[in-house]
Amino acid sequence: MYIPSLFDDLENPDKDLKNDSSKLKFNSALLEAKNCKKCQLSLTRNNVVFGEGPTNPEIMVIGEGPGEMEDLQGIPFVGKAGQLLTKIFESVDLKREDIYITNVVKCRPPGNRNPLPEEVEACRHFLQVQIESLKPKIIVLLGAVACKAILKNFSSITKMRGELILQDDQCFIPMFHPSYLLRNASKKEGSPRWLTWKDMQKVKKFVEKES
Ligand code: SF4
Repeated sequence: MYIPSLFDDLENPDKDLKNDSSKLKFNSALLEAKNCKKCQLSLTRNNVVFGEGPTNPEIMVIGEGPGEMEDLQGIPFVGKAGQLLTKIFESVDLKREDIYITNVVKCRPPGNRNPLPEEVEACRHFLQVQIESLKPKIIVLLGAVACKAILKNFSSITKMRGELILQDDQCFIPMFHPSYLLRNASKKEGSPRWLTWKDMQKVKKFVEKES
């Protein structure tokens, strides 16, 4: 299985993408993002963090933006929050390498602040191409920033986490962001970590049912 990391050789064929048109759009977005200067985040980034994972994923995960480690390595979710995310997948017997992971913005907001609305808009094209090309069965939205950027009707992460939402023929499920879970270590029944575990079980059941 071909796994694009940051900017792999674009001559390497993405055999798993659904068709030639999807492949062309995906690779063209990848190349465009590499040199993108459409927003001010380009001034402070070390690397553009486009995404990582298979090109035929059943599950896609979208966070808000790269952090320090991600910016340095050019790979999404490699810091502490990323390590926790990997453990969350493993808690329901999912493998990180089977899941496509990306963020709403592809460059690190300085000091890990939330991306500004104009930065989200400037970067939206890349996310749209990723979603349309990869066509996952379900998209996990991590935290309120990702939910607000994508869902037309979003109230709060506490109210909407774990809810399966169909929008424009694509299924989404909001979940707590792993950074929030790092600050809430309890695994007691009803705790954010416990709820996230239940939500991930729901994701797994959903993709199994759709297979
Ligand atoms: S965050 Fe997105 S729009 Fe802004 S410079 Fe990076 S790739 Fe371009």
